[in-house]
Amino acid sequence: MGLRKLDIEGIGMTSQRTRNRLVARLMEKGVRNEAVLQVMSRMPRHLFVDEALASRSYEDTALPIGHGQTISQPYIVARMTELLLEGEKPPCKVLEVGTGSGYQAAILSPLVDRVFTVERVEPLFRSTQELLHALGFRNIHMFLRDGSWGLPQEAPFDAIIATAAPEVAPPALLEQLAVGGRLVIPVGKQSGYQLLQVIVRHSETAYSVVEHEAVQFVPMVNDKP
Ligand code: SAH
Repeated sequence: MGLRKLDIEGIGMTSQRTRNRLVARLMEKGVRNEAVLQVMSRMPRHLFVDEALASRSYEDTALPIGHGQTISQPYIVARMTELLLEGEKPPCKVLEVGTGSGYQAAILSPLVDRVFTVERVEPLFRSTQELLHALGFRNIHMFLRDGSWGLPQEAPFDAIIATAAPEVAPPALLEQLAVGGRLVIPVGKQSGYQLLQVIVRHSETAYSVVEHEAVQFVPMVNDKP
């Protein structure tokens, strides 16, 4: 991803007006959290996709970002962020599994203290690292690794968000949640069809699960046996 694209204000299809239309659509679809809507209205999503797709970057759809991966649909980003922030107190330290384009991490950045995000595809990791750095996101910490094992050296997390779907929630992610913390994760055996789950850790040993809408994510790959 070339940094020549760092046109933050945007022109034409990447303008504020286009972003406002997207936010209106998110509200129609039921997104209520004001802080989330505000961050979505400011975030230059066109910078997180390839230049050839920039004109479609404010449509409410997932788009390819290379390496067989996608930037998530804006509605799903908004919905998952809203669910992540729904706890009794706002999360300070958040882990994201599946950095991809960096868009979800960028949306979280102004809403929490620190974002830790892990990606397993090296070229994607490198280009996103360059982009997030150029855009000045200083509270996003990126790691190249298999996120199904979480990030033990930084645990516990107040919240964890997975933007790739495992068949079942990985035990490491459950263990790395702080008590009172929540995991927002698409879960399902079928690629491209999963249910969004919110798993809350109530004590050392007690967790609850609430299922939300059906979503379409790429599978969470598990590199180690
Ligand atoms: N949050 C991203 C969505 C990217 S798609 C965005 O806003 O653009 C999901 C990403 O998860 C892909 O980049 C994929 O490589 C990554 N992924 C899949 N399995 C993973 C794993 N086990 N650990 C880390 N990243 C993983």
